[in-house]
Amino acid sequence: MKRNPPELANKTFDLAIIVGGILGAGIARDATLRGLSVALVEKGDFASGTSSRSTKLVHGGLRYLEQLSFGLVAESCRERSILLEMASHLVTPLSFLLPAYEGDPRSLAMLRLGTTLYDWLTPRRHSATPRHRTLSASETIAAEPLLPSEQLRGAVLFYDCQMDDARLCLETVLDACRHGAACANYCQVIGFRQTWDRVDALQVVDQVSGDSFDLRAKCFVNATGPWVERVGQFASRESGRIAIGPTKGVHLIIPRINREHGIYFQSKRDQRMIFLLPWGDDSLLGTTDTAFTQSADDVRAEMEDVDYLLEQLRELAPLRAIEANEIITSFAGVRALIRSEQRRPSRRSREERIVAAGENLLTVAGGKYTTFRAISDKVVQRVSRLLGQRPARCLTAETPLADHRPQAKGTRISDSPSVFESDIAFACANEMAIALEDVMRRRTRLALSRYGGADVATQVSGMMARALAWNETTRSEQLERYLTQWGLSRPWERRHE
Ligand SMILES: Cc1cc2nc3c(=O)[nH]c(=O)nc-3n(C[C@H](O)[C@H](O)[C@H](O)COP(=O)(O)OP(=O)(O)OC[C@H]3O[C@@H](n4cnc5c(N)ncnc54)[C@H](O)[C@@H]3O)c2cc1C
Repeated sequence: MKRNPPELANKTFDLAIIVGGILGAGIARDATLRGLSVALVEKGDFASGTSSRSTKLVHGGLRYLEQLSFGLVAESCRERSILLEMASHLVTPLSFLLPAYEGDPRSLAMLRLGTTLYDWLTPRRHSATPRHRTLSASETIAAEPLLPSEQLRGAVLFYDCQMDDARLCLETVLDACRHGAACANYCQVIGFRQTWDRVDALQVVDQVSGDSFDLRAKCFVNATGPWVERVGQFASRESGRIAIGPTKGVHLIIPRINREHGIYFQSKRDQRMIFLLPWGDDSLLGTTDTAFTQSADDVRAEMEDVDYLLEQLRELAPLRAIEANEIITSFAGVRALIRSEQRRPSRRSREERIVAAGENLLTVAGGKYTTFRAISDKVVQRVSRLLGQRPARCLTAETPLADHRPQAKGTRISDSPSVFESDIAFACANEMAIALEDVMRRRTRLALSRYGGADVATQVSGMMARALAWNETTRSEQLERYLTQWGLSRPWERRHE
C-alpha cells in the first residue's frame, strides 16, 4: 500500500474518518466492507496514539465484574472469540494465574466466583480459551516458582488473549485499503469547513510535504481518543461533544522473570490489579492508572510511575526483585475514559459513547481495544442512517485479516521479536512506514525489546535509507529523533543527572 494523500483531495467520499487508531481503523474496514467509499487521515503514524500503548490483551476484563459491568464483560468475551478467529496471527491465547494470599482483599473464594461468572459470560467459547480451574498452593508454586509460598492459599488458572496491538491496528488499516479505502498517515486535521450544522470538508495538512487540502465527504467521524475534545472544538456548535477524563497508564519491559503464564496480581498498596506478562524473551509489567491533565502528545513514564510498578513487583516476587537499571524500556498511554463523577480512575467506566453533532458528524470515544470491532459496527450503522441508507450487514467477523508478512530474507536483525531485513523493506514498500520510529516501534516491536537501542536502530536506519532513498542528513535526523524517544522511555537513566 502506497501513501498517496493527493487521492484524498480529488473526490467526495461517503465517509471521512479522523484518525488511524484502532477505532478509526475498525470503522474504515467495516464501512469499506459494506460498500461505502471511505477516507481516513491520521496526524502521526497509524497506531501512534493509545493503540500501540495498551497492555496488549484481548480480554473480557475480569476486574470489570467488580464494577458490575456485566454487559461490557460479556461483549468483550464474545469479541475475544471473534478476534481469535479473525486475526489468529496477531491474537493468541494466554493462560493466567490469579494467586490469592492470606489477608488479600480478594480471597480465593471470591476469585473463583469471579472466574466462574467470567466463564458464564463467554457465550461463544473458543477451544483455545478453556474454562478456569483452581490450583492448590503447591500446584501454584509448581506452575510459577517466582511466587512466594508463604501464606499462599492457591490460585485460579484462567484464559484470555494477548495481541500485537500496533500491528492489529495497522493491518486493519491496510485491509481497509485493500478493500478500497483511501488512508494516509502523517495527515493532520486542523479544522472543519462547515455550512450551518453540516460539515462539508476537513482541512488537512500533509505533514510530509507541507501541502494543505480539503477532504470532502457526506459524513464524518471523529474517533481521536485522547484528542477527541480538541478535535471536537473544530465544530462550530458545542452540542454533540464528548467530555473525557483521561488517565495515564505506564508499562515496563523487564528481563523475563515469569514462566509461560501471565500473572494477574493484587497490589498490596492500593488493591489495584496488575499484570506481569510473558513478552517474547522478556516480561511486561503494568499498568498504572492515574489522572492525566497534560497533552496526550507528551505522555511518558516518570520515575514515580516506575517506582510504583517496581514496588508492586517486589511485593509479588520478593526473591526476584528488579532494580531500575535492569529495566529494558517503558511505554505510556492515555485512556480516553468518558468523564464521570467517579474519583478513582481505575473505577471509571470503560464503555464507549457515540454522539451526533449537527447533520453529519459522529463522535466516538471510550471503549476498549478488545471491543473495537463491535463499536465500529455500531458506528457504521449510524453512519449508514445519516447517509439515508439501510445499514448493510456487518462483514468484519467473518472476513479474516490475512497474514501478509513476507518470507524471511536477508540479515536477521533480532530473534525476539523475530525481525529480518525483509520485514524492514516490506514495511517501507507496502506498509506506509516513513520514519525510523514507525519501523522500530509499530511495524516491528524492536523498540519494545532489548534491541531498541542505538546499535539496532543504526542498522535499521541504514536499511530504511536504502529502501526510501534517504540521504545521510535524513538518516541521521531520523536516528536522532528515534534515540531521543528511546532515551525518554528510560527515565531511570536521568534520575542522577
Ligand atoms: C495503559 C493502557 C492499557 C490498555 N490496555 C488495554 C488492553 O490490554 N486491552 C484493551 O482491550 N484495551 C486496553 N486499553 C484501551 C485501548 O488501548 C484503547 O481503548 C484504544 O487503543 C483506543 O483507541 P482509539 O482509536 O480510540 O484511540 P487512539 O489509538 O489514541 O487513536 C487516536 C488517534 O487520533 C490521532 N489524532 C489526534 N488528533 C488528530 C488530528 N487532528 N488529525 C488526525 N489525527 C489525529 C492520534 O494521532 C491517534 O493516533 C488500554 C489503554 C491504556 C492507555
